[in-house]
Amino acid sequence: MTIPMHHADLERPDVPALLDRFGRPLRDLRISVTDRCNFRCRYCMPREVFGPSFQFLPREEILTFEEITRLTRVFAGLGVRKVRLTGGEPTLRADLPALVRMLAAIDDLEVTLTTNGSLLAHQAQALADAGLRRITVSLDSLDDAVFRSMNDMDFPVQLVLDGIAAAERAGLAPVKVNAVVRRGVNEHTLLDLARHFKGSGHVLRFIEYMDVGNTNGWRMDEVVPGREVVERISAAMPLVPLEANYRGEVAQRWAYADGSGEVGVITSVTEPFCGDCTRARLTAAGELVTCLFASHGLDLRGRLRDGSSDADLVHVIRGVWSQRDDRYSEIRSAATATLPRLEMSHLGG
Ligand code: SAM
Ligand code: SF4
Ligand code: SF4
Repeated sequence: MTIPMHHADLERPDVPALLDRFGRPLRDLRISVTDRCNFRCRYCMPREVFGPSFQFLPREEILTFEEITRLTRVFAGLGVRKVRLTGGEPTLRADLPALVRMLAAIDDLEVTLTTNGSLLAHQAQALADAGLRRITVSLDSLDDAVFRSMNDMDFPVQLVLDGIAAAERAGLAPVKVNAVVRRGVNEHTLLDLARHFKGSGHVLRFIEYMDVGNTNGWRMDEVVPGREVVERISAAMPLVPLEANYRGEVAQRWAYADGSGEVGVITSVTEPFCGDCTRARLTAAGELVTCLFASHGLDLRGRLRDGSSDADLVHVIRGVWSQRDDRYSEIRSAATATLPRLEMSHLGG
């Protein structure tokens, strides 16, 4: 794998870099605030598994806002500069703006959110007022029938477009729009999506369908390589490559040659980027997970609730990160696809 020589852009004079076994610093924290969702995207929470009898986490097992904030302070002390609230669907968590406000008060911390956008029209302003800095909205197709069937709950596209418009009005533009591409499902609608966001100021990114979790029945032949997506768009609307904004950026960026904005591809399957992966995840139940494809996490909730000090937490997190050697996407094979692992909705996408 390509190991970055150093991360000068990440250095903070007051925080000695905490590096894993491949020299990668701990810089980003994705926090799942709930394992529940109002969508049942088949690539994430297929309804056969996440049906009426599925046992979601009971309330007492979910971290409180105070617990999340305390842990985030500890992570910030270890070098984390950016948190992303996710889930499940984070906007389902009651009073999410209050959490944003608590986290935004931590020095030098950027608070961002990934959402399916269905509840955003009503929440965008409150989230922005609370200090949310940036937002990513998932939208897999503009074709209403395709979108309704992909979320498998009959939610219309317009609801998400209204959410994006509300985010823009609230000052959260440019919005990042994420679209997962599945061969034979929404690939025929990619160009429409690209055309819609071209010139809008928002940045659309196409994500390769990944083998996260064990429930979505992932197959390699359903992955549309990012390279192919770029070729298809470029054939209709010419693209030129752009440099990454910062080291560790997951999306490959392309600009429309006519100057009307940019589009990206996230090629986690065909061109993995583990060498620059600086992300840790905190599940809604308070487990620390160091890779999207991990089979388990380390329980921090128990430690929070048994009276551990911040120094104890620092010690435990340092121990986990310094031993980290995850690089799943670089060693993916037919054999690894069947290994047990956590579900995306549990660990926070
Ligand atoms: N519910 C929110 C949403 O959909 O934006 C946040 C959580 S969701 C798990 C985060 C992101 O993961 C979404 O953009 C979703 O499309 C993506 N995702 C989920 N399952 C995926 C898969 N199997 N492959 C690629 N991306 C996936
Ligand atoms: Fe819900 Fe997001 Fe997963 Fe879709 S991708 S089921 S919206 S958590
Ligand atoms: Fe990071 Fe794991 Fe994804 Fe590699 S496979 S980029 S280590 S989350």
